[in-house]
Amino acid sequence: MRADNTTPSGALVFYSDFDDFDTWRQALRARLPGLRILHSSEVADPADIHYALAWKPPAGFFGRMPNLRLIINLGAGVDSLVGRDDLPAGVPVTRITDPDMARMMAGYVLFAVLRHARDIPWFEQAQRRGEWAYRHPRAPADTRVAVLGLGELGAYAARELQRQGLTVIGWSRSPRAIDGIQCHAGMQTLDAVIAQADILVVMLPLTPQTRGLLDRQRLQRLPRGAALVNVARGALVDQAAMTELLRSGHLGAATLDVFEREPLPPEDPLWRMDNVLITPHLASVAIPASAAAQIADNILRVSRDAVPHNQVDPTRGY
Ligand code: NDP
Repeated sequence: MRADNTTPSGALVFYSDFDDFDTWRQALRARLPGLRILHSSEVADPADIHYALAWKPPAGFFGRMPNLRLIINLGAGVDSLVGRDDLPAGVPVTRITDPDMARMMAGYVLFAVLRHARDIPWFEQAQRRGEWAYRHPRAPADTRVAVLGLGELGAYAARELQRQGLTVIGWSRSPRAIDGIQCHAGMQTLDAVIAQADILVVMLPLTPQTRGLLDRQRLQRLPRGAALVNVARGALVDQAAMTELLRSGHLGAATLDVFEREPLPPEDPLWRMDNVLITPHLASVAIPASAAAQIADNILRVSRDAVPHNQVDPTRGY
């Protein structure tokens, strides 16, 4: 059956170990009442599936669906998707780039950065000692925050930080202009950006170019006592070098949402470091009520043979 304007052809398959199927089904049904939405465990005939909304499905998942027309990554980061060997040739891959997700991420980044800018970890430790330890606050503009990655999430967070009066320096691959933010682009500027950062926020995608970007040498370029906030991907940072630099005090503190290995193994020394705050990869998530609109729009576009929005460029890896 061919699609009309509101009823796409075929069915959608859902896969995620982290997201609730019923919530997503409901949100999508509200937009596309005619679309059949199946959990991957309910698929009787893979030929029926035209759309896949998936987060880290098992190997071979996409290869079983001969009529797949659109793959929607259930999240913003596509590093676990672009290298797969079961992506059918010619089928567009899209990702979620949702303002609510960006706002949630900015909330986490603001919390983490202000926590460091206002010396909260230092006060937490003083409190544990029962000590009234006055430390005069710095003016916001005296704290320089470098944000690596000025995409959907990074640019939003950078703006929120700038709104707090912090001095924000941004870095991306291609030149960007954001009011009130000193923007730099390209590898040749990275070391200078890092050298100025009292707080370094990592918001880059993981690609062949960015894997291991923050190696020992680059982390050592941070001013002594700087804080690191990584909300992007663990493999962007040399975790062993980061741990040593946190131990030596070269890195003053870190807020880490992502790790080279997840879950972070129980024996990892980071768990027991006083100057490290760990959260289990949840700085932001795709929010069904708001993301369903762009997913529905893309499904309808593809079902009318139009090009979907938010496509991932597999050659650049993001
Ligand atoms: P975007 O693709 O919108 O933006 C990526 C940014 O990084 C762009 O500014 C891009 O530059 C820049 N960039 C990419 N490669 C390079 C490079 N080689 N050198 C310099 N800059 C580079 O991504 P999002 O903002 O949507 O997301 C960023 C990452 O956040 C995701 O890839 C994901 O890994 C992570 N994430 C983490 C979550 C969590 O809960 N912890 C939740 C959601 C996402 P340019 O502007 O020139 O393209």
